[in-house]
Amino acid sequence: MFDHRVKLFKLMGFQVSLDASWLIIAVLVAWSLARGVFPAFVSGLSPGTYWWMAAAGAAGLFLSIVLHEFGHSIVARSQGIPMTGITLFVFGGVAEMGGEPPSATAEFLMAMAGPITSFILAGVSYGIRKLSDAMGGPIEVTAIFAYLAWINAALAIFNLVPAFPLDGGRVLRSILWAARKNLLWATRAAAAIGTGFACLLMAAGVASFFFGNFITGIWWFVLGMFIRGASRRSLQQVLVRHALLGEPVAKFMDSHPVTVPASTSIKDVVERFVYRYPFRTFPVVDDGHLLGCINLNQLKQVPPSEWEARTAGNLAVPCSNGTTIAPDADAANALSTMSRGQSGRLLVVERDRLVGVVALKDLLNFLTRRMELEGA
Ligand SMILES: [Zn+2]
Repeated sequence: MFDHRVKLFKLMGFQVSLDASWLIIAVLVAWSLARGVFPAFVSGLSPGTYWWMAAAGAAGLFLSIVLHEFGHSIVARSQGIPMTGITLFVFGGVAEMGGEPPSATAEFLMAMAGPITSFILAGVSYGIRKLSDAMGGPIEVTAIFAYLAWINAALAIFNLVPAFPLDGGRVLRSILWAARKNLLWATRAAAAIGTGFACLLMAAGVASFFFGNFITGIWWFVLGMFIRGASRRSLQQVLVRHALLGEPVAKFMDSHPVTVPASTSIKDVVERFVYRYPFRTFPVVDDGHLLGCINLNQLKQVPPSEWEARTAGNLAVPCSNGTTIAPDADAANALSTMSRGQSGRLLVVERDRLVGVVALKDLLNFLTRRMELEGA
């Protein structure tokens, strides 16, 4: 679902992106606003007016979801949780975390920040609606803010349902976590409740469908399926982190990785490395010292006529942030770094020496074996 995302803008250091699936929802929302909600609220306007009101309402919803996720992200950052960005997709938004929250309190505050933001937005929209009413403002504006007040309150209440990984489920997990001092147990309990809620929602969807409420029925069923999947994935993430915690990266790394000697000509880099190995980035070393990295994009910028004359050492640039890790670092951290940087390989560096490369497939291999031998 995250393969078709468009980067929109960056605000306060957070990248806001849009998943293609969100556009489907935007169209559905605008359509139901133009044809159902606004004509019911105020009758007798022209279809064109209803459509621009619907467009404004959909834009307001978009902004509301972004602000909800910003609420989470800003509190998360203040609590020391690395955040990568915000993506809007079919069922709202996701503030992407680079790791698990460091404490139950941090998780509680982070989870509450979203619904509180939505409640504030609902209050502000309601205030504007009342003000517009009192001052005899255009009925279109009153209607749009009435809708925004309602949708933000609905967003806040829905997200507070204690079904992990919804905000309410995270609040529940943080309370259980604080009570038992055991994140794994708290996650299992919160995820079980989340799955239970999801199944209830799906059952309600099926019942609703057979009683003639087709659209609502399908909507609830799909939402239930989504929560069930998200709940399972979030639990898996915690289990994986737990299994890797305390295991040093050095245990899984390949200590004889593919490296490019600094004196290699670009022509040889292409022939002996790029065409031979599936990697996009190669470490460039000089006598075991890591000089830097060389990647396909840099190579593309060198005209083939210069391939013989230039060397890997000339072209290498410092390896970018999030591509290296220390050998004694936790494998769980290696996994979060990989998912943040979207690269399946990290260079293992001790002082300025390259001592190995750790790959996602090696970590996964360890996890599979461990589950086979020791159970989940
Ligand atoms: Zn939220």
